Amino acid sequence: MSTQTNIKVLKNFINGEWIDASPNAKTIPVPNPATEEILAFVPLSTKSDLENAVKAAKNAFTTWSKTPVPKRARILFSYQQLLVEHWDELANLITIENGKSYNEAYGEVQRGIECVEFAAGAPTLMMGKQLPDIATNIESAMYRYPVGVVGGITPFNFPMMVPCWMFPLAIACGNTFILKPSERTPLLANRLAELFTEAGLPKGVFNIVHGAHEIVNELLQNKDVPAISFVGSQPVAEYVYKTASANGKRVQALAGAKNHSIVLQDANLEETVKQIVTAAYGSAGERCMACSVVVAVGDIADPLIEKLKIEADNITIGNGLDEDVFLGPVIRKEHRERTEQYIECGIQEGAILLRDGRNDLIRKEKGYFIGPTIFDNVNPSMKIWKEEIFAPVLSIVRVETLEEAIELTNKSDFGNGACIFTDSASSIRYFRDNIEVGMLGVNIGVPAPMAFFPFSGWKNSFYGDLHANGADGVEFYTRKKMITSRLE
Ligand code: NAD
Repeated sequence: MSTQTNIKVLKNFINGEWIDASPNAKTIPVPNPATEEILAFVPLSTKSDLENAVKAAKNAFTTWSKTPVPKRARILFSYQQLLVEHWDELANLITIENGKSYNEAYGEVQRGIECVEFAAGAPTLMMGKQLPDIATNIESAMYRYPVGVVGGITPFNFPMMVPCWMFPLAIACGNTFILKPSERTPLLANRLAELFTEAGLPKGVFNIVHGAHEIVNELLQNKDVPAISFVGSQPVAEYVYKTASANGKRVQALAGAKNHSIVLQDANLEETVKQIVTAAYGSAGERCMACSVVVAVGDIADPLIEKLKIEADNITIGNGLDEDVFLGPVIRKEHRERTEQYIECGIQEGAILLRDGRNDLIRKEKGYFIGPTIFDNVNPSMKIWKEEIFAPVLSIVRVETLEEAIELTNKSDFGNGACIFTDSASSIRYFRDNIEVGMLGVNIGVPAPMAFFPFSGWKNSFYGDLHANGADGVEFYTRKKMITSRLE
């Protein structure tokens, strides 16, 4: 049973101990976004808390980095088993602190577990390379070593999956880790640490320091933290990337998105609508791979919109723990208000509001709910097209050709995901080769790559060069040593 998620003020996890943040740390409440019930208070830890964590992680690195790789992997195998055993509990906790439906949360746990499974392959993933005869009697070999203490900073929208993109692989590669979870969804991280400890992870290898931007700034400046993995919104990602690299760190910073789904006239309408509704409104649109713009090509627009509206009307809104609920709340009251401002802005800009989620009845009850919203006749001069709203708001842009659709999509500053719905192989190929986006879907609404492939946004959706997960992740969490030997 968890002891660290059922307490009033959450503790930090440093050197294998659950420790109160320093006495001068303020706390902020963590409400359940569906009920507004206060689940816990999260401390805004201070510089000294972070320094203690860095000290512990640096100490642990000396032995963990030299622990045989298969032994490290074995702990990951045990961890995987524990996560599977606690699947329901973890999904439940995600729904309670984030608000997404239980089904979505259950899927998120799966995505997290897959990262642990990938990381357990460390003995193979960390192998080097060699060439026996680079010159007469001379050979060369490349070895991989861990980097040191890695800092991970994560967003609220995937409290399990996103941290799992980082710490299991970093740790399997021999690094030690300090996680600064989102202060809006901090509970799940504590449970992940408890289970990792149960799996046999030595003290100090995985640490958690709760807090907000102050802890981020300390991580970015600390000389004993050579690598930073960040996932969050675009302005913060850009700031993290610039600051961490100016301080000589390697950094990967995954950022915001504005994902377009292009629908051609030969698309299977039923299936397309199903996929788009899930992609636009699942997790209340709070996904970096959410579909936020539909680009309807030619005559498909009217029948597509009609069906989208019917499906949106049929969505069950409510507490994600209740059966049949598809659309939960957004994360906070302020986020709902911000979304309402975007809706107002879309109206002012001249888009046609086809469905207004502000009117959904559930809004009269407690919780930060907003219903599915659809705008038609959106164009690229509008703020609702340019900016990430991160809520259940879908914009529709009408164009005449696939070329126009791609040109429009490529105008976006973001390049995380894009999808095409069509039956035509040549259109798919044209889309694949000309779209300036890193993760593509063909007749699929949410083309999020699995743990063994890189999560590979482009443009302002990503800062750095090595992406999270897959071979990129291994490359990011290791450094190479070359040895050239004369053997005669
Ligand atoms: P956020 O940027 O507000 O917060 C992310 C992290 O940064 C949190 O831990 C937070 O404490 C910290 N932070 C926030 N403001 C800061 C500041 N001024 N200085 C230093 N640190 C700061 O993001 P969020 O609202 O929690 O998450 C949603 C965002 O994350 C969306 O933009 C979404 O697209 C993005 N996201 C991207 C991906 C991806 O793979 N590209 C995946 C998930 C989420």
